[in-house]
Amino acid sequence: MYTIGIDIGGTFVKLGIVDESGNIIKNKKYPTQANQDNEYIISKMISEIENLILDNGLNKKQILGIGVACAGLIDSKAGVILYSNNFKWGNFPIKDILNERLRLPVRIANDAQCAVLGEIKKGNAQNCKDVILITLGTGIGSGITVNGKLLRQSQGGGIAGHTIIQKNGRLCSCGKKGCLEAYCSTSSLIKITKNIVNRNKTSILYNLCNKNIDSITGEMIFEALAKNDEIVRNIIDEYLENLSIGISNLINIFRPEKILISGGVSNQGDILLIPLKEKVYGKCFASNILPQTDIQIAKLKNDAGIIGATELFNMEG
Ligand SMILES: [Zn+2]
Repeated sequence: MYTIGIDIGGTFVKLGIVDESGNIIKNKKYPTQANQDNEYIISKMISEIENLILDNGLNKKQILGIGVACAGLIDSKAGVILYSNNFKWGNFPIKDILNERLRLPVRIANDAQCAVLGEIKKGNAQNCKDVILITLGTGIGSGITVNGKLLRQSQGGGIAGHTIIQKNGRLCSCGKKGCLEAYCSTSSLIKITKNIVNRNKTSILYNLCNKNIDSITGEMIFEALAKNDEIVRNIIDEYLENLSIGISNLINIFRPEKILISGGVSNQGDILLIPLKEKVYGKCFASNILPQTDIQIAKLKNDAGIIGATELFNMEG
């Protein structure tokens, strides 16, 4: 039997056929076209799924179901997207709609929740039961497993990005102040850097961006860091300090075996990971007695959502 995994992102929808061992045997992607109406988006999704099945010589009887990963606030049990910034979808019963039109079982979870399941199946958390995955992208997503089970309360828990790390801090996209996301998402890092470089024009980064502050990207920030830009070094140090507060809070609550970091910033690897670990471990309770939580970069990159979504069929409910 096979399962279809579908990862609905703001820019692309990625889908693939996954075998029982978690291998993607065929995948494809197409532009999301999030500005189109719901009917267009759903019809396109259905025809892409059906074509993927037929083009690979399979029929629906060989498909266990459709696993869906989607950014946003998801009620997995009801199969409803409560809110997704990508589509401005509110209370969208995607599970029932896909189920009715495809005549296949459908399961859905948040994309970071699917990614943690993918990493347990085929990535850097194989054989682990207690894992937390954090995605550092436009926002901050999180997926948490406890004793091998995905934490997914119907009332929406496990939202690490909006835990508050600073009293009366920076305004977050959610409207609250001082959230981890307001400091540590890739977008926040870029925004904070732009502000600081604008006030510090001796920064190497100011020249790297050709004195066009608005053009600063995440890659440019790390290029400046590699060139020993003192101002950028301080920004990254502060960034890692803030991230370490968020991560050590999660460790103190859950004490997972592993924390995995994914998303754009994670491409920097050890440049971030080594100082981050030092800052995190300095903040963990009883770190001289309890075993340290391993912190790694996630492995599966773009495939995590597809593989993880199919893993929803290996979980209860
Ligand atoms: Zn927030």
